[in-house]
Amino acid sequence: MKSRSPINQKNKKTYIKWASVAAAALIVLVAVFWLYNQEKNTDPVNSATAPSQSQQAATSEEKPEEKAAEEQAAKEKAAEEQAAKEKAADEQAAKEKAAEEQAAKEKAAEEQAEKEQAAKEAADKKAAEEQAAKEAAEKKAAEEKAAEQKPDSGNKLDATQYPEDLALPSKPTIISGVLLANKQHPLPATYAPGEVKEARSAFESMRANALKAGIDLTAFSTYRDFGRQKELYAGYVAKDGQQAADRYSARPGYSEHQTGLAFDIGESGQEQHWASSSFGDTKGGEWLKDNAHNYGFILRYPKGAEKITGYMHESWHYRYVGKKVAADIQSKGITLEEYLGVN
Ligand SMILES: [Zn+2]
Repeated sequence: MKSRSPINQKNKKTYIKWASVAAAALIVLVAVFWLYNQEKNTDPVNSATAPSQSQQAATSEEKPEEKAAEEQAAKEKAAEEQAAKEKAADEQAAKEKAAEEQAAKEKAAEEQAEKEQAAKEAADKKAAEEQAAKEAAEKKAAEEKAAEQKPDSGNKLDATQYPEDLALPSKPTIISGVLLANKQHPLPATYAPGEVKEARSAFESMRANALKAGIDLTAFSTYRDFGRQKELYAGYVAKDGQQAADRYSARPGYSEHQTGLAFDIGESGQEQHWASSSFGDTKGGEWLKDNAHNYGFILRYPKGAEKITGYMHESWHYRYVGKKVAADIQSKGITLEEYLGVN
C-alpha cells in the first residue's frame, strides 16, 4: 500500500527499535549464562577441592599405621640401647674380673717368693746353727782333752760332778748360818720347808722397786719339793741324756729349789726370756745383777764359775742369803761356795 498514514509509519519504527533492544538483551543474557557455566566448570578452587579432600581422606587413613611404625621403631631403639648397656656392663665386669685374676696371680707370686725367702732363711739359719753346734762340740772336746792332759787338774774338786756315794744325808748343810745345797752337799729327801716367807717378802720388796724402773719382775719358779724335782730331772734325762741334764738341772735332793730360798726370776710378758741365758741381757736381767744384793739375793750361778758352783751360768736363778751375806758376796765378786770356803 502506497498510501500509509504517518502514525503507522511511526509505530513501525518504534516496534523495530524495541525488538532490537530485546534481541540484544537476549544475546547478552545468553552470553552471560554461557560464561557463567564456563566459569563454573573451570573454577580452580572447585577443581582443586576434590583431590584435596581425597588426599585428606588418604592421610587420615594412613595415620594409625605410621604411629604403630614409630612406636615399633622406638621400641627397637630402646631395645638396642638396653643391649648396648648390657654389653658395656658385661665388658666392665670382664675387665674387673681380669684385673682381679691378675691381682690374685701377683699376690700368689709374692707369697710364693716370701715362702721361698723364708725357707732359704730357715735353711741358712739351720746351717749356721749346725756350724755353731759343731764348733762348740769341737771346742769342748779340745778343752776336755787339755784338761785330761794337765797333771794337776785332778787336785781340785770339780763341783759339777756328783760324789760316788749318792746316799742323801739326814740333815741339811748349814755353814755360818747359811744353808748350802749343791752337788756335794745334798738335802735330805724329807727336807720340805716350802717357800721361805722371809725370802718371798724380800722378793716383793725388790719387785716393788724394780717396778719404779719400769721392770715387772716375777718369780716363775721358787720352791720345789723332792718329789717334784725327781719328776723334772727324770724328764730332762729322758729328753737330753743324763750328762746334759746334769749341767742345767739338779738330781732330786741336790736342787737349791728344795731349800725354799731359790727364785727363778723373769719379767711378766717376757716369757721368751724365762730360764734363758738371754734374760741376762734384758733390762730386767741387768737390773737384778746390779740391785738384787740390796734385797738379800745373789746371782747363784754366775758366768765362768761352773767348776765351783757345779752349774752352768743361770742368769735367772737367784738365791736368798740375807742382805749382809749378799752384800759381801757382791762386793767381792765371788760365789757362795767361795764365800763359805767349801769345795
Ligand atoms: Zn733355778
